[in-house]
Amino acid sequence: MTIQILPPDLVARIAAGEVVERPASVVKELIENAIDAGATDIRVECVDGGKRLIRVSDNGCGIRAAEVALAFAHHATSKLRSADDLAAIHTLGFRGEALASIASVAQVTCHTRHAEESSGTLLRLDNGRIVAEDRIGRAPGTTMTVEHLFARVPARLKFLRSNATERAHIDGLVARYALAYPAIRFALTHDGRVGFQSSGRGDLREVLVAVYGAEAAARMVAVEAPPDSPGVRVWGYVGLPDLDHANRSKIFLFVNGRPVQDAKLGYAVIQAYHTLLRANRYPVAVVLIALPAEAVDVNVHPAKAEVRFRDPDAVFSVVQRAVRRALLDNLKPPEPPSVLSASLSAALAQAQREPPSIQMAQPPAQPALSGSQTWARVGIPPASQRAEPSSAGQAQPSAAPAPSALPALRILGQLAQTYILAEGPEGLYLIDQHAAHERVLWERLMAQHELGEVHSQALLDPVAVTLPPDSAALLEAHLETLRGVGFEVEPFGGQTFLVRSVPALMIQDDIAAALREIVADLEMGDAVLRRELEAKVLKRVCKRMAIKAGRVLSMAEMQALVRDLEACESPRTCPHGRPTMIHVGLRQLEREFGRLG
Ligand code: ADP
Ligand code: MG
Repeated sequence: MTIQILPPDLVARIAAGEVVERPASVVKELIENAIDAGATDIRVECVDGGKRLIRVSDNGCGIRAAEVALAFAHHATSKLRSADDLAAIHTLGFRGEALASIASVAQVTCHTRHAEESSGTLLRLDNGRIVAEDRIGRAPGTTMTVEHLFARVPARLKFLRSNATERAHIDGLVARYALAYPAIRFALTHDGRVGFQSSGRGDLREVLVAVYGAEAAARMVAVEAPPDSPGVRVWGYVGLPDLDHANRSKIFLFVNGRPVQDAKLGYAVIQAYHTLLRANRYPVAVVLIALPAEAVDVNVHPAKAEVRFRDPDAVFSVVQRAVRRALLDNLKPPEPPSVLSASLSAALAQAQREPPSIQMAQPPAQPALSGSQTWARVGIPPASQRAEPSSAGQAQPSAAPAPSALPALRILGQLAQTYILAEGPEGLYLIDQHAAHERVLWERLMAQHELGEVHSQALLDPVAVTLPPDSAALLEAHLETLRGVGFEVEPFGGQTFLVRSVPALMIQDDIAAALREIVADLEMGDAVLRRELEAKVLKRVCKRMAIKAGRVLSMAEMQALVRDLEACESPRTCPHGRPTMIHVGLRQLEREFGRLG
């Protein structure tokens, strides 16, 4: 074998593989060009999943007759002038590679007319070579037609999947851009049939309905950036916890109008659902992030799917808090006291009798000027127009329906002193009394915590607890964390600590044992952020205080517990993500009994 320099057309084809992987990647590049050209109307037509034909028409600025051929040359771009521009990219394209790459692996026809010129241009290329050029008449804008993708590149062709699969990729892609650009009208057809369409009216909610359907869209709540996040804007919609999905594929993330796949950013969204989702389920989310162009590097990946943030942790934290807040804002109001948790309910009511200080702890999101403009653009009402807690403790029911809500249940009895048996319109419910009570306590404690204060009660006799040296040092380091969740603990010399106050809920508990467990939890050390540690402690409190399996419950107690559970935002899982109940549907019973045909 001798070493040879590859001929240019082969080099081009190899390079094309980086940008053009499948029909959807062609659609992506053409849509991005249309958006960069200022289009407000983008039509995408595909035949055979885009393998035979992809046509993207736009009403953007068009290409000047003198530059049409140049647009198809490698590294030809109107969007980047110097290396300095790379530091702050304001367009979706900038590499000048897409048209050249696509043209090297397909037959491309470009019809275009620049807005300032009186006639247009037709340019046809066949696998990289110009085969026709002509003047044409047409309205300003551009139509790119890409036919027989990879027909001359067998190695690529054989990696294309079925028409249906390629179509699905295109559908997902067009949906993403429609979500990121509600003010642009998108229309997609496959084999002549109209598929997805968005109105271009600028209302993100409307696009959600077009993408997910009205039912799912109604189960998504608006996300707004926390007010204390200068330099980063976050908005969008996230699904309530029960609108979940088997994998991460329904988490759509956008950075500066660019769909991105960033595992860590996705994780920030997932984290915001901590304890709200069932085990191994993922949320549905559309989260858009805007930050100054200098704060993000998009030049990481040829297909531009990855981005690099200058301050990733700050971005992740804003995203996580924004999503979390959106979810908590839609939590159900606390229920009246029940037999089981009377002390807690009383504590909560007490805490809510002092609205001013509570409000101060976490002021409602007041849109900054730029933020409200964003919302106006995407059609999200500012926070002030949405449901706010009204009078003492009576938050208004949220406008969005609660999909996780339980139907009203009728208690039948208790099984094995562990499960509550209940009847609902949909059949039989077996409720784990401990897990259910944990969920009830957890949501109440978290509601207090989010309001800025877990209600705490002083012990009549402070309890002294002596710990082994390592544990003592750890506890000493976390006294502030504990204070944040209602524990007042002070060093008492040596390895001994004095517990003066505890969360009101725990007043009857074995305080020394509880503190030892909490310190053991802190030692486990997978949580790092203060809020994570606080949540961990509160989970331990719930676990300790929730009624145990093996305890006989009266009818009234079971009714109270189930009523409390019905009022929970996520009644179907415990704070650790395990189910609180098993539902045996009537149809299932009919099947089991052989009553169905
Ligand atoms: P890039 O988008 O990175 O600049 P492309 O190869 O995608 O590179 O496009 C090359 C150039 O062709 C663009 O910079 C732009 O000037 C022009 N162009 C491509 N598509 C369009 C379009 N739909 N409308 C107007 N100009 C376009
Ligand atoms: Mg481009």
